[in-house]
Amino acid sequence: MVLGGFALYWTNLLSLLPNPWADKDHILLGTASVAVSLGLFLFASLSDPGTIRASDAETLSAWHQLYPLDNAIWPEKTCATCNLSRPARSKHCRICNRCVARHDHHCAWINNCVGAANMRHFLAFLVANLAMCMYGTVLACLILGGEMEARGVWKLNLVNYATGRVVPMWRVPSKMLEWLIVLYPVGVALGLFMGVATLLVTFFLSYQFYLLAVGRTQYEMFRWRDLHHQMLEEAEQQQEEREAAEREASAAAAAVAASAQQSEHAAEDASGAGSRGKRIAASAGKQGGGWLGWLGGGRPKVKVELPKNIYHRGFWRNAAEILVPEVYLEQEKKKARRVAARAAAAAGGGAVSGTAAATEKQRGSGGSAGGKGQQRGSKKTQ
Ligand SMILES: [Zn+2]
Ligand SMILES: [Zn+2]
Repeated sequence: MVLGGFALYWTNLLSLLPNPWADKDHILLGTASVAVSLGLFLFASLSDPGTIRASDAETLSAWHQLYPLDNAIWPEKTCATCNLSRPARSKHCRICNRCVARHDHHCAWINNCVGAANMRHFLAFLVANLAMCMYGTVLACLILGGEMEARGVWKLNLVNYATGRVVPMWRVPSKMLEWLIVLYPVGVALGLFMGVATLLVTFFLSYQFYLLAVGRTQYEMFRWRDLHHQMLEEAEQQQEEREAAEREASAAAAAVAASAQQSEHAAEDASGAGSRGKRIAASAGKQGGGWLGWLGGGRPKVKVELPKNIYHRGFWRNAAEILVPEVYLEQEKKKARRVAARAAAAAGGGAVSGTAAATEKQRGSGGSAGGKGQQRGSKKTQ
């Protein structure tokens, strides 16, 4: 599609160069920007997004260490297809049929998953694409404007025969557009297309930067939203139950007060002020609730506080995890090796069982984490 678009751009716009507004260098620059974009596209679509394999136990446990379960949006889970205990932030992609670390989304555009290992490729591709689209839009404007200059259209005047007034044609945008569409229909369409593409890519890229700033993946956005809805529903239900109980209690209190009033006429002067005060307070409370409920659309609004996002480690650390995930993974591996070595030294020569115990510990303390095959395997080594 990109190549087809470029061929159209070439035959309808670049072939018009040079003209008074743009020289021939733009042919080289335009071709280079398309080549860079295509190269990064191939790079992103062929890159490994961060496949997690059960066979590579060391990397798997390093992912577990780097992204431990938060038991909020990431409870313990096993992937039956890949036969592994899934680290937090990872997901099994059904299209690629593999578990991907820090899964962001499966991109139909590059026909590949975007995950921990190739988010940087994807971002580089988006940046190059944005530069290409912006440049393409500006260049289309320059080429078309230059062509109009070469044809002397900018110097044309419009004459209103009724009033005799003479107006330069460039002051009437609709007339200029008419000329452009008649002379260069494909060129105008290409320029518009590039403009729309620029806006779209800008939106995509800004969204990715937003996610980076809040330490979430696209997939986690859905999970946080679902958790929020679930918590809101639970809180609303609790509030309703509480209100019903309060209503019952106040009705019972009012009945008791009424019967006490009827039976104790004599003592009313002494204690009446207090009970009347209470009743007024109770009715005011009810009115207040109704009024608030009316404002909030039938039900009083409840607020819930979401648990902390433990994967948000500040903008720069989030960015570093995207740019060089290997560094952090290697750190975790080294830590695990140190722990294993220390355990082996403490056991006094039981190096093999020490490593097995360390890996088992990292895999999560849930018990069923490793899946049947892995559990059997670890039992054997123990
Ligand atoms: Zn899987
Ligand atoms: Zn995928």
